[in-house]
Amino acid sequence: MSFLKNKLVDIAIEARNFAHSPYSTKKIGAAVQLDNGKIYSGCNIENASYGGTVCAERVAIWKGYSENLLPIKIKSIVVASQETSPWPPCGMCRQVMAEFCTPDTEITLVNLEKKEIVMKFSELFPFAFEPKHLA
Ligand code: ZN
Repeated sequence: MSFLKNKLVDIAIEARNFAHSPYSTKKIGAAVQLDNGKIYSGCNIENASYGGTVCAERVAIWKGYSENLLPIKIKSIVVASQETSPWPPCGMCRQVMAEFCTPDTEITLVNLEKKEIVMKFSELFPFAFEPKHLA
């Protein structure tokens, strides 16, 4: 694992500490690196309405989006969960990722023992509905 990749994994795992997850009790962390090199973290933030809940991946992406001039593209995303088999992003997060990822964006799913599952975005979400469909 490269130094940068290690750093992203550590940031994603650390971000779990900020999770607000009284309903699921699952603490998820994410780290997103943009193509300009900036890194943003996120954690899941649950809500009593359930529908107001947002996943760690979207928190990290929106933090990056809100602090950078467009166009931004995501170079890599790390998602950290406590599960034996690292959890993948949900469908809604995949759709948000489709807005800012490229087919080659590296997606890494990791657990607390740093067991990794690595894939490209195009493998995580093949045939995604993307901005190009509305052009
Ligand atoms: Zn999600």
